[in-house]
Amino acid sequence: MISLNIKKGFKLNIDGKPSLELKKTSKPLEVAVLPSNIPYIKPRLQVQTGDKVKIGTILFEDKRNPEIKFLSPGGGKISQIIFGEKRAVSEIIVALDEKEEYEIFETITENDLSSSNKEKIIRALMEGGVWSFLREFPFRDIARPNFEPPIIFVNIENFDPYHPTPEVYLKNKKDLFIYGIKILKALCPNVYVYASNLCSYALEELEEILTYKVSGVYPANDPGVILYQIRKSSSQNKSWYIKGQDLLLVAELLKTGKYPIERIVSIGGSLSSERKHIETRLGSPIEDIIAGAIIGETPARIIVGGIFKGYKSAANSFLGLYETSVMLVSESREKELFGFLRPGFNKPSYSRTFLSYFNKVSQKVDCNLHGEERACISCGACASVCAVDMLPQFVFKCILADEIEEALSYGLLDCVECGLCTYVCPSKIEISEILKKAKELYYKEQT
Ligand code: SF4
Ligand code: SF4
Repeated sequence: MISLNIKKGFKLNIDGKPSLELKKTSKPLEVAVLPSNIPYIKPRLQVQTGDKVKIGTILFEDKRNPEIKFLSPGGGKISQIIFGEKRAVSEIIVALDEKEEYEIFETITENDLSSSNKEKIIRALMEGGVWSFLREFPFRDIARPNFEPPIIFVNIENFDPYHPTPEVYLKNKKDLFIYGIKILKALCPNVYVYASNLCSYALEELEEILTYKVSGVYPANDPGVILYQIRKSSSQNKSWYIKGQDLLLVAELLKTGKYPIERIVSIGGSLSSERKHIETRLGSPIEDIIAGAIIGETPARIIVGGIFKGYKSAANSFLGLYETSVMLVSESREKELFGFLRPGFNKPSYSRTFLSYFNKVSQKVDCNLHGEERACISCGACASVCAVDMLPQFVFKCILADEIEEALSYGLLDCVECGLCTYVCPSKIEISEILKKAKELYYKEQT
């Protein structure tokens, strides 16, 4: 095991961390798939309202590669297909039957897991709907099945507060996880599994398969940051990665021949009375996950997918394919009279101008921006936290000036979209969003 020390980043000391407790939710009435939340794909529907489906029936495929399928996380009837802007499919909702049926897929035994069976494994993963969990750098699109990646990274846990911890999602599933690693090794000999130096569970239970022990603060264990730190040539920029919990789904499909639907989700945040892990299923209704968890009357913002990388969701929406975290924070928009004169002892901030810098107790976050966007003051805060050594202030200015080649030369494609530069910027500039959109546009121009 190699120790890797990532020096840059930031530890956000916020209130609302989920405990290790695991609660099982009851079966929902409906589940859904949200194609518009899956980056880059072009969905082609394979069902219509009223169709009967089983767990694992194809709901839609990616027009760019029709072999990549997206399957139903429930058995029942398609109750609604909701379209968004430009008739993009935004939600496919399935009303569940009391007794759900399964489609049955090919299983692959451990003895069949050799690189000579690579084609067979890839076909099984695509038909079984789990191929989309493998993502390719630098754009984090779904991995190309006809490409051999130089490295596949397996991320055991996530530093973005707060995602499910391996202690909970890997409990009693160590063998399945190791089986998943063997599947990946049949696709690429270089599979690098890593965990943080604070994750005692991974260090004790999975020591024999760990490649890297990572120390540092958010986003130190993002696979893009690890790649940036260890890469030896530019050809490695097209490596793949998969999250630990998603690898369990890959392994379960090949072991059982059934589309796996179990999802462990963490719920936390300062407005959440339930700070724990929840055993639910892919595409569950958000309102089932947060039921009874919101504290008080204050409007709560529901953030799905992590506080830095996630998005605002609604109680009547559903859990996306990749999401494993739900946070409830105050939507507060109150203006603070003479706020700038206060010492800010309880104000989570990167700035050393607040006394909270010395406050080690976790603090509440809300959605209050305390000001509007201003011009960049070249303070350098964004560059000092960027774990891939970019100069975000220069890159976003190049993008706004339409100088995409220059932005690329400043390392735009290394950006791991961690959102830290936006968080620390005293001028409230949405740097990370500007970078992310520029990357997307560049990707679309290339394809
Ligand atoms: S530029 Fe911003 S979003 Fe990108 S990696 Fe650096 S800090 Fe994170
Ligand atoms: S943190 Fe904001 S204000 Fe400071 S250099 Fe970066 S973009 Fe400019």
